[in-house]
Amino acid sequence: MTNSTAILGSTGSIGTQAIEVAQKHGIRVTALAANTSVSKLVQQARELHPELLCIADESRYAELKDAAAGLGCRLLAGMDGLCEIAQHSSTDTLLNSVVGMVGLLPTLTALDAGKPIALANKETLVAGGELVMSKAAEKGLPIYPIDSEHSAIFQCLQGNNRKQLKKIILTASGGPFFGKTKDDLRDITVEQALNHPNWSMGAKITVDSATLMNKGLEFIEARWLFDLAPDQIEIVVHRQSVLHSAVVYQDESVIGQMGVPDMKIPIQYALLYPERLPCPTKPLSLTDYGTLTFAKPDYDTFDCLTACIEASKTGGTAPVIANGANEAAVAAFLARKISFLRIGELVHQAMAAIPVSPLNCYKDVVAADSAARAFVRDSIA
Ligand code: MG
Repeated sequence: MTNSTAILGSTGSIGTQAIEVAQKHGIRVTALAANTSVSKLVQQARELHPELLCIADESRYAELKDAAAGLGCRLLAGMDGLCEIAQHSSTDTLLNSVVGMVGLLPTLTALDAGKPIALANKETLVAGGELVMSKAAEKGLPIYPIDSEHSAIFQCLQGNNRKQLKKIILTASGGPFFGKTKDDLRDITVEQALNHPNWSMGAKITVDSATLMNKGLEFIEARWLFDLAPDQIEIVVHRQSVLHSAVVYQDESVIGQMGVPDMKIPIQYALLYPERLPCPTKPLSLTDYGTLTFAKPDYDTFDCLTACIEASKTGGTAPVIANGANEAAVAAFLARKISFLRIGELVHQAMAAIPVSPLNCYKDVVAADSAARAFVRDSIA
């Protein structure tokens, strides 16, 4: 298990739970970074005494300087600050739980500096999977998934022959709009989209869960993490979020990982791997649930899912375009500039309009991402 960790995205849902896990198990927190929440970040720093403190939104640096005066932390800002934390010498493991493609460069930087990654930032692998996985392999460094589904798959792979894996079953809660048709979803409000049945998460991922874009991103994430072909990934809607995903071996044995829907379990497995110690969560009572259900996804209604599967098959910059368009479209939806259904339309339109090119370096990712965001911006202007 890791001795110390730096947490990017420390004031978010994953970040705050990661701090709880770190405190329970005596893991030193060496650095913290938040996007905009200066007061929450400084409050965390008072309790944890990290060496480095970073605010990603550079316009809030002066505010951070005032609030963190006398704390004895070195203060940083922006992408440079995130990357400095990523390669900080007294950190064992980088826990990356920022939201969006912005997490990719810090991940690559940490790998370059020889640090294992505990990864909750799925866009890192969606946009830069090829780059991240080849660098991790080159450096011989592990990536411990924190996404609950990918943690489940990672756990199910332990102690078995990876070469005998046939496929994986990626479970999806189905989100708040399971069973609805496109007609039903025409007038969905931001408030309705933010009301997830099982998981309490940040706004971006909650909207992604409502459109099933989240599952599409996870499809691409799984493809890279576990080196799978797209046809080795089956998506199954499982409303209760108890079976967090499963793997199928050549002998048709299906091995799944279950637990209550609580991110502290995958966070702890990533930080304590391979140890399994008591976790600050509720035990799973299968008899309280009584029934677990499984269904096929509705690909017609939730077209973000088809966009991601298509992007994964196309490869190159296609997943970057899908992700970038989605990030911009979700931001516009949350700002009440576009309708809920327009998110999926924009993702498909961006993919149709922007030519796909091979992905060889970080610059290729940035170029495709910018093109997708510009496409969405122009389309809704
Ligand atoms: Mg997930």
